[in-house]
Amino acid sequence: MHDNDLKTAIPNEESFRAAVLEFLKENCEQINESESTQGDDPDRVRECRNFQKELFKAGLAALSYSKEHGGAGLTSKHQELFDEIARDWRLPNGPLYISHGMCLPMLDQYGTEEQKNTFMKDCISGEKIWCQLFSEPGAGSDVASLSTRANRDGDEWVITGQKVWTSGAHYADLGLVVARTDPSLPKHKGLSMFIVDFNDPTVEVKPLKQISGGSGFNEVFFNETRVSSDRLLGDLNQGWNLAVSMLMFERVSIGAGGGSLTADRTPTLIELAKTLNKNSDPCIRQILADLWMREKIRRFIGQRVRDSVAAGRVPGPEGSIAKLNGSLLARLFRDASMKIVGTSGQAWEVGDEDAEKWSVGCLAASGVSIAGGTDEVQRNIIGERVLGLPKEPDLYKGASWDSVPRN
Ligand SMILES: Cc1cc2nc3c(=O)[nH]c(=O)nc-3n(C[C@H](O)[C@H](O)[C@H](O)COP(=O)(O)OP(=O)(O)OC[C@H]3O[C@@H](n4cnc5c(N)ncnc54)[C@H](O)[C@@H]3O)c2cc1C
Repeated sequence: MHDNDLKTAIPNEESFRAAVLEFLKENCEQINESESTQGDDPDRVRECRNFQKELFKAGLAALSYSKEHGGAGLTSKHQELFDEIARDWRLPNGPLYISHGMCLPMLDQYGTEEQKNTFMKDCISGEKIWCQLFSEPGAGSDVASLSTRANRDGDEWVITGQKVWTSGAHYADLGLVVARTDPSLPKHKGLSMFIVDFNDPTVEVKPLKQISGGSGFNEVFFNETRVSSDRLLGDLNQGWNLAVSMLMFERVSIGAGGGSLTADRTPTLIELAKTLNKNSDPCIRQILADLWMREKIRRFIGQRVRDSVAAGRVPGPEGSIAKLNGSLLARLFRDASMKIVGTSGQAWEVGDEDAEKWSVGCLAASGVSIAGGTDEVQRNIIGERVLGLPKEPDLYKGASWDSVPRN
């Protein structure tokens, strides 16, 4: 397959390309340096909301989503072309990564018409930012064993429990929360997904400090948070199916989307090598060539997954392949960048923001192997669902959640 294949069958390609370029020139800077990966800065969130508002006004937001629900009503090919053009620009939309990569496709696939009408447009325009809440202190890789409870009370659900590692919860307006609605069923069967308003005073968000110095994720406590029954997303006790879909959207987004740690970044490194006069070093040239090829492969995996989504399918284990490849790329990029920047990646003069960015990127790279399910978990999925290997033994298979011992 050639790069040109990515560009076929786009109606009015020329005028679309021109409109995208005009917008980017007016609203973004061209990329000539590494991106900081700290997503917790309030100025950055404000900048993101303003940027998205402009993108939405220009009719360039959520390109392949229906106009009726706030999208641009174009095709996934338009989105691919947009992403390709935007690769050379710094789009300040990092804080919308979860909103648009995971929550928006979930609303689109599983929302009732009323939920789509109420939430999708504001999500697309950046007016409201969303986060996703699966992980708990006692349920990470084995997320189906989670303990946050949702009890029915009249026409409402009352949610109680604790989530952890919730990216962006400190600036989110809404969240998709997975909670246990029937503990007498086996762990995968008694879960449901809810839309929760984060401005509710019973929702408590406590940022966590990371090794990189930032606070991108949080602990979130639900203290008898009440949500009306029409905030149930999908069917009651079908939350596991929704959680799997959402995790697959996340894996695709990490592995094949425009995430700052896994997207095509070799050109940035080539520029860095030139600036530091290391571009003639044969070892560095070899590393850069290898990275460049792997980034091309990443795009092809991404295209395969996007085509599948455009055909109405929820991504399957190919999402795990994309995710695993993305986390491998993030580590390769980290190692290559540290070889090129040398000691200034470990110790830099106060105020040398550029060196600091490379260091922050290096520290954040390992997180890509954990977020959205660890590399080991992706390998298990690929082993079972692609290679047909036997499933992991489960001593409590079929037992009700409340009869399984846990600490
Ligand atoms: C940057 C970042 C952002 C995140 N954002 C969010 C978010 O927005 N919302 C959210 O809900 N969560 C989020 N998470 C949490 C993430 O989903 C979990 O950290 C992840 O699923 C792993 O769970 P855990 O940390 O509890 O590790 P554990 O599950 O305790 O795993 C510990 C180790 O054991 C290994 N292991 C566990 N089970 C198996 C197995 N069956 N086979 C082989 N090895 C195994 C793991 O690979 C890992 O190395 C985020 C995490 C990161 C790093």
